[in-house]
Amino acid sequence: MIETPKNLTKNILLGMFFGLLFGAVIFYLDPLPEYLTFLIGTYLFNLGGDIFINLLKLMIVPLVFFSLVTGISSLGSLKSLGNITLKTIGLYLTTTTIAVSLSLLVGSIFRPGSGYSSDLSVSPDSLPEGQGTYETILGIFPSNIIQAMADNQMLAIVFFSIIFGLALNKTNHLTDNISKAFEKLNIVFMQLVIMIISFAPIGVFCLIGKFVISDGLNVFQEAFMYVILLISVLILHTFLTYSLMLKFFTNLSVVTFFKKMKDVAIFAFSTSSSAATIPVTLNTVENNLGVNKNVASFVVPVGATINMDGTAIMQGMATIFIAQMSGIELTLVEYVQVVILAVATSIGTAAVPSAGTITLIIILQQFGLPLEAIGIILAVDRILDMIRTSVNVCGDAAVSCIVASSEEELDKQIFNS
Ligand code: ASP
Repeated sequence: MIETPKNLTKNILLGMFFGLLFGAVIFYLDPLPEYLTFLIGTYLFNLGGDIFINLLKLMIVPLVFFSLVTGISSLGSLKSLGNITLKTIGLYLTTTTIAVSLSLLVGSIFRPGSGYSSDLSVSPDSLPEGQGTYETILGIFPSNIIQAMADNQMLAIVFFSIIFGLALNKTNHLTDNISKAFEKLNIVFMQLVIMIISFAPIGVFCLIGKFVISDGLNVFQEAFMYVILLISVLILHTFLTYSLMLKFFTNLSVVTFFKKMKDVAIFAFSTSSSAATIPVTLNTVENNLGVNKNVASFVVPVGATINMDGTAIMQGMATIFIAQMSGIELTLVEYVQVVILAVATSIGTAAVPSAGTITLIIILQQFGLPLEAIGIILAVDRILDMIRTSVNVCGDAAVSCIVASSEEELDKQIFNS
């Protein structure tokens, strides 16, 4: 079993605290000569933060590929894969639909964007292009897997990993069990992620410092209601929706579930990447929540790629916030369209930091909402991304437990231990 570094959670929280403290001292008190502030900002905070994010991104393609291939090639019967797939996708779609609906409901009651006018803006030309629905669907079926991997097209990689895993599974008797080699490589990559993650406290220190040193904490005032409401819905969805689903489908103890998820959530929080969190999620889901490896190694990596409730909540709230800010009232039909679009775009969002704000553009474009307003969303997104990623991974784990329990692949003794 791969061990996560000791005291990681505590050290990450310390990293956050000191990043905030250092950044705030430099931003507000400005005690250093200009060139030193520049050096610290650029070569400590920016560079450190970017290196950490790059290393995490580096791991994502091999992690998703090897964990899925291993999961599928080691499945005993392919019939059970069919059942597991249907349940998994069904549950992921359901939780995400509930997530956006909750977000729209709260947003339309508490109206975060009314009475608000902002001069914060970014040029629409500098925004990355969002993908349309047609391209997203076509993108699942790559014409060149090397290209897909080079471009981080996660849905294409998931698709290829699944069919590759199936072929491995079917040919195991002819290939001298070559799937064992993939299992071993999977372990190596997991270990590699853990090695990178042991630097998370420093990475988080730099990321938070980078954010505070350049913008201070003022940005939060501008979008105060948006931030508060978004965080409230994220918390509500995590503790209400997942608890109800766990109770309803499994009767497992919700308290035990959340207690055991603490490290995974902190890990997702510090990396802002569901994909980089896969090894920790898998470890917890299998060894602490008692989900059988067969189920976990399929449900977790697929979830990390397509299941993003936190992201969908952000997209719903941001859409409503921007619409209200621009004096546009969405109709009921448009609310339903936001739900459908947010579910679809959250599936297409890469499990890497800030990806959700890029796919948000698709929704804004669809409703003719001003893209410039995304400047406000981006300004406060660092912390929000961390929180919503924690929600994303909790969703993956909850669905893993539900699927495993329905397939009688959940060991209650381990869960309750
Ligand atoms: N950072 C998120 C994740 O990895 C995606 C996003 O919403 O930006 O789950």
